Amino acid sequence: MQGSIRDSCKRLGSVHRGLAEGLTMHTMDFRLPVVEKLDRTFFKGKFCGTYGISVTTFVPFIRTPVILLNERWLSDYDLATNSLRRTMDCGWHPECDDVFDYLVFHEAAHTIYKNMSMNKKRHWKGFFRDRKNRSDIMDISGYSLVNAGECFCESVAAYYCGADHYRSNRFAAMARDLFF
Ligand SMILES: [Zn+2]
Repeated sequence: MQGSIRDSCKRLGSVHRGLAEGLTMHTMDFRLPVVEKLDRTFFKGKFCGTYGISVTTFVPFIRTPVILLNERWLSDYDLATNSLRRTMDCGWHPECDDVFDYLVFHEAAHTIYKNMSMNKKRHWKGFFRDRKNRSDIMDISGYSLVNAGECFCESVAAYYCGADHYRSNRFAAMARDLFF
């Protein structure tokens, strides 16, 4: 499992060297009482069930990717793989060959989104709001509908780690251009 995550970080580095070089990754037991309390207080309890989170998104002044992975999944390769694969099979996340590539690219993309210039972000948000493109968003994943930021990260993961058909998706293509 650890090896697989490391390989995914290497693949991130082959696409975006700077992002991978600044990457810090930690594991944490999301079921710890203190974590659950924070989760209920600040994230409406959504946080404990996730595979990983981008700390960069929530903490001001951090400009490099800091990713917290859910230790429960890390300790069981099959559980992690099968569980992530199921979320892809039902269309909730983009269909990717390597599920850990998806995880690493998605979480790292949050750092790009956070640091994006106002102009680029406005452009992306406008694109996201355009409801005519709803089917394009749905073609990336169900989770993309949550908000513009998640849609960006899902689109990055779909473009770089996903099946071939994503390359012709408008959101994936735009996310590729904004990824640097
Ligand atoms: Zn996300």
